[in-house]
Amino acid sequence: MCQHAVSRRDFFGRLALGSMAGASILDLAWRRAAWAQAMSPGAPTDLFEIQKVAEGVYFAFARPQVLLNCNAAIFVNSADVLVVDAHSKPSAAAAMIAQIKQQVTPKPVRYLVNTHFHWDHIQGDAGYRDAFGKDLKVVASDATKKLETQFSQARLRESLDPHGHVTSPPHVPALLDEARQKLSAAASPEQKAQFAEQIRQLESYEREIRDFAPVLPTVTFAKTYVIKDKAHDLHVEFHGRAHTAGDVVVFCPQKRVVATGDMIQGALPYMADSFPKEWPKTMDSVASLDFDFVAGGHGTVAHGKQRLTSQRNYIEELATRVEAGKKAGQSLSEIQKSMPVASIKALAADGYGDLLFPSRNEAAMQAAVDTNVEHVFNRLGQS
Ligand SMILES: [Zn+2]
Ligand SMILES: [Zn+2]
Repeated sequence: MCQHAVSRRDFFGRLALGSMAGASILDLAWRRAAWAQAMSPGAPTDLFEIQKVAEGVYFAFARPQVLLNCNAAIFVNSADVLVVDAHSKPSAAAAMIAQIKQQVTPKPVRYLVNTHFHWDHIQGDAGYRDAFGKDLKVVASDATKKLETQFSQARLRESLDPHGHVTSPPHVPALLDEARQKLSAAASPEQKAQFAEQIRQLESYEREIRDFAPVLPTVTFAKTYVIKDKAHDLHVEFHGRAHTAGDVVVFCPQKRVVATGDMIQGALPYMADSFPKEWPKTMDSVASLDFDFVAGGHGTVAHGKQRLTSQRNYIEELATRVEAGKKAGQSLSEIQKSMPVASIKALAADGYGDLLFPSRNEAAMQAAVDTNVEHVFNRLGQS
């Protein structure tokens, strides 16, 4: 990330994207609004909002935090529970477990699926292991286990190091520095409270995650892992490389729901570890399943396949145009200049741009697309 000199502004732009790990920089405006709501008197303090999707299937929407949590999908089996993804820290997983007990079912969680190796989906695994001990199966693809082993601890360590340059996980010392500067410049009591709360969350995360050691998957597979239960069947499936080399989905044919991690989700795709040419084909394979609801790792639940198609077309358009620019010998910045937001057809079609960028802030939209273009540029040709 740091092979080229970057301006401080550029650095913070990247940080913001890194901290969302798959969500849009524009969601920062949304996060600010949600933040204000979360801070208001009488606001719910739960980290997640649990929604019923189908009989025995729930979606846990992650409320905004300085360091985001991913959403979870919850499948209630006849005697136990399967949860998809584990958030960014064990205490968030513990909060999720408490909410499941209170709002969904007293049955124990027996299966935890890691859809992929990113920090905001696996750093909470230990919360599940601590609660359910050796009976818990942590399920992932072979590739995800390999990536977790290779990257999780190393990237996290760099994200806590004052001299580190990683952007995913977000660089905590830089975020703390920024929040402290904002606090000292804050004028109103509301602003002061907001930045003080951000600092509190960052310091608490740093304390909690300092000694992180990954809880590696205990059940891995190349293509498919099937759980046949009296309540329904659950198919944990690898359809090909996409957002990472190891993404899996959890498909429940009887309830017509698929949980997709960050391969298919409701925010701007994060592409730094992706396979941009293969990702659309992998999504086509998932799209051939018979489902009504998509529970993604970020954003809201999607009804139907429109959002999947929109995201697929966006990734394909980026991959095609960046590859053509590269073949023509253009530099990254030349390609970025040739791809203004207004020229990207997939963003204009079927409300996809409005979904990703509800505030329509053009500078931030361009920054977000430029970052996607940079990641595609770097990832094309990676094996
Ligand atoms: Zn994510
Ligand atoms: Zn991810």
